[in-house]
Amino acid sequence: MISITNGIYTLASIYYVIIPIGYLTKWWFTEKEMAGKGLVLVTGGAGYVGSHTIIELLNSNYSVVAIDNLVNCYAEKNQKPESLKRVEKITGKQIVFYNVDIRDKLALEKVFKTHKIDFVIHFAALKAVGESVQIPLMYYQNNIAGSSTLFQVMSDFSVKKLVFSSSATVYGTPQYLPITEEHITGQGCTNPYGKTKYFVEEILKDVCTSDKEWQVILLRYFNPVGAHESGLIGENPSGIPNNLMPYISQVAVGRRDCLKIFGDDYETPDGTGVRDYIHITDLASGHLKALHKFKDPSFVGWKAYNLGTGKGCSVLEMVKAFEKASGRKIKYEIVERRDGDVAASYADPSLANIELDWVAHKSIHDMCADTWNWQVNNPKGFEQS
Ligand code: NAD
Ligand code: UDP
Repeated sequence: MISITNGIYTLASIYYVIIPIGYLTKWWFTEKEMAGKGLVLVTGGAGYVGSHTIIELLNSNYSVVAIDNLVNCYAEKNQKPESLKRVEKITGKQIVFYNVDIRDKLALEKVFKTHKIDFVIHFAALKAVGESVQIPLMYYQNNIAGSSTLFQVMSDFSVKKLVFSSSATVYGTPQYLPITEEHITGQGCTNPYGKTKYFVEEILKDVCTSDKEWQVILLRYFNPVGAHESGLIGENPSGIPNNLMPYISQVAVGRRDCLKIFGDDYETPDGTGVRDYIHITDLASGHLKALHKFKDPSFVGWKAYNLGTGKGCSVLEMVKAFEKASGRKIKYEIVERRDGDVAASYADPSLANIELDWVAHKSIHDMCADTWNWQVNNPKGFEQS
């Protein structure tokens, strides 16, 4: 009789205690195993900077969940964005992807319920300066309201470690060169796009003041250019490119006839505008270094870092460097200055060097050679595939 009762107790304990513990342990370890160094939610992950950063994350054993509403990236119907398919090819790893708009709170909550997210890298934004002047409300709605919805959901799920894609545009017209992080921000931001970056930075500063658990890194990019060395992913602007590098490369490949250089009468060595171009792979690695910073227990609140090389390069120098890297002649003409352009802008990146242990390694030649490799292998961007 006693042994029958013992048997029932044994079976019951296996059924009610040991099996559930087994399941829980398995779930716990699978999640942890899957997470590696941690699970990163990447918003706007299918875009130019997002896709290159995901490669670095996966190669460094982070797990990634990417979201994107596909407004500025190419995907075949009901398929993963082409950029992310190629990232999977480059890394040999699978990416969990959701077609989610950051303004959609319910959809975001579903992602946070499904995955135990450790960090967020927030790239999702509209970024065309000219368009932002035409349709400012769309930019404020997407970039500011969208970001604020994301931060609310993060807070609700106690995910309070964030890297935000900001821009050197928050410095407005540089008061001095090279620009340090102490430079005043928000003054002389002449277009709605630039203002959205400044406003989101300010929102994040307020969030950090209100809740000491937040750790926020604002990465102020200078001019990201170049492509992954595989030539499989790169910048894929829709329509006529606004930025210099994609325009030059489309002229080189024969998609555009002639580069228009906006002014040669600036107070710069050759009269053309000077910028701090940074290779996209160097920029991407800056995001990994930012994640490492979260391990520092003394780091609370927010901190801004410039991501640039510290060296200025003029439009004419860039044209020459591209001609050398591609072996093609770049036809150009000098036209009027473009409204809102500054003569020169370049970073003092020493704070990121010292505090994040980050440095940009790649040269202007690397930037041109990798852009050309991407362009020549994908003359119409991702769409042709
Ligand atoms: P991108 O357009 O290639 O990538 C942004 C991605 O975000 C796109 O795939 C787009 O579909 C997605 N997106 C836009 N709105 C969204 C929304 N509401 N919900 C979900 N997804 C949305 O741009 P990028 O060059 O990769 O830029 C990434 C970030 O870096 C942006 O925040 C941009 O402002 C910032 N930035 C870029 C540069 C640059 O020159 N590329 C310079 C400074 C800062
Ligand atoms: N530029 C140019 N022709 C173009 C695009 C850009 O002469 O078709 C110049 C522009 O005036 C600036 C530099 O190239 O001096 C970089 O411009 P981009 O738009 O790439 O970056 P941003 O001005 O936003 O820093």
